[in-house]
Amino acid sequence: TLSERLSGTLRDLRGKGRLSETDIDATAREIRIALLEADVALPVVRSFIAKVKERAKGAEVSQALNPAQQVVKIVNEELIGILGGETRRLALAKEPPSVIMLAGLQGSGKTTLAGKLAYWLHNQGHTPLLVAADLQRPNAVNQLQIVGERAGVPTFAPHPGASATAGADPSLGPGDPVEVARHGVQHARDKMYDVVIVDTAGRLGVDEELMRQAADIRDAVQPDETLFVVDAMIGQDAVATAEAFRDGVGFTGVVLTKLDGDARGGAALSVREVTGQPILFASNGEKLADFDVFHPDRMASRILGMGDLLTLIEQAEQVFDAEQSAKTAAKIGTGELTLEDFLEQMLAIRKMGPIGNILGMLPGANTGQMKDALAQVDDKQLDRLQAIIRGMTPAERADPKIINGSRRLRIANGSGVTVSDINDLVNRFFEARKMMKQMAGQLGFGGTQRQSK
Ligand code: GDP
Ligand code: MG
Repeated sequence: TLSERLSGTLRDLRGKGRLSETDIDATAREIRIALLEADVALPVVRSFIAKVKERAKGAEVSQALNPAQQVVKIVNEELIGILGGETRRLALAKEPPSVIMLAGLQGSGKTTLAGKLAYWLHNQGHTPLLVAADLQRPNAVNQLQIVGERAGVPTFAPHPGASATAGADPSLGPGDPVEVARHGVQHARDKMYDVVIVDTAGRLGVDEELMRQAADIRDAVQPDETLFVVDAMIGQDAVATAEAFRDGVGFTGVVLTKLDGDARGGAALSVREVTGQPILFASNGEKLADFDVFHPDRMASRILGMGDLLTLIEQAEQVFDAEQSAKTAAKIGTGELTLEDFLEQMLAIRKMGPIGNILGMLPGANTGQMKDALAQVDDKQLDRLQAIIRGMTPAERADPKIINGSRRLRIANGSGVTVSDINDLVNRFFEARKMMKQMAGQLGFGGTQRQSK
């Protein structure tokens, strides 16, 4: 995967004093292969690599970060840039009703999305109306009504009496999706619904009739937003499909679905870059609530597979004194961390915010074991740890191994805790030191950098 490749590449950069041209080229090659493997379209890969190279070459050698961390930062920032930078909000009409039309291939998740979007808008105090303009499949109308009911939102359907909650026009024949869409929007206007979500038909592949019908519906309802719905799992096909919809119907935004699958996000990168249209939402499951506004930074992290490691790097840059940080990083890498360092780091880290949030940003934080461990960390506990360490002599902090039974009793009495609390702290410290040493090795934060210091 991309993350494995990148971490391999980045590990190779560990210990280098600055980014040389050769380093950058080698890294760029690896990133290129990795992106292609993640199903990112070739032209997108090319422009991405060009940007990263350009920036890496111009980059000043940072005081706070080693070269590996610097490359992570640049790759991440460029990824976020390509994915759209800031989150783009849904553009609603000044005068209701706003019309949102959904377009995309069959099975891409339009109907499911219609329900999620309706639910989401409803929860924000809007009064959405779903319009069933997919008359292609016998069950399509019914499927929309079911998701609508779950979302607590009425559905406008072509058959009289088909929906208990919204009116249907009895003069409508069952067969014309364009007319259904038009009447649906009129119905919303009459009944004061403020957002209309028009579900449309898709085909298994791009075809002319599908495009013509979608374009006719578009002309009939004049959408404020046309959302192209695309299955994140379709990989390379995403580009051709997106281009066909862009040319055939036109769209103002993209929704990525099925992100709960193992797709690495290559489709996201490609569609955004090739069509120039922003990704507005991400869908990640079959339930109504499996849905969120799209966050370019989170997607970048997903593609890199490194949790929010970058956020941590950024915060570290702000909070840590660069010198101190280099010294500590070196100590972590060699396993020489002392309780004194531990205390200092703890104080520095606590400036960043509640401890659970910070630890939660580490790679692997969402795996079962880490999650359980995180649930047990709280700030009160840290206050206690701080008090215990303050109750130790400098010699004890520097070399926790000397903390024997009688010292433990003295410290416990001094800081108002029990001996078993002290045992706990010391044991955990040794464990943590071992773990951090391993992690530092994996991430390329090892103790070999800054030898020149
Ligand atoms: P449409 O043909 O574009 O209307 O697609 P549907 O909304 O009917 O979705 C097709 C299938 O994909 C259905 O079985 C949905 O339950 C499923 N689906 C839709 N969105 C998601 C998603 O985000 N994650 C997962 N796992 N399944 C989804
Ligand atoms: Mg559908």
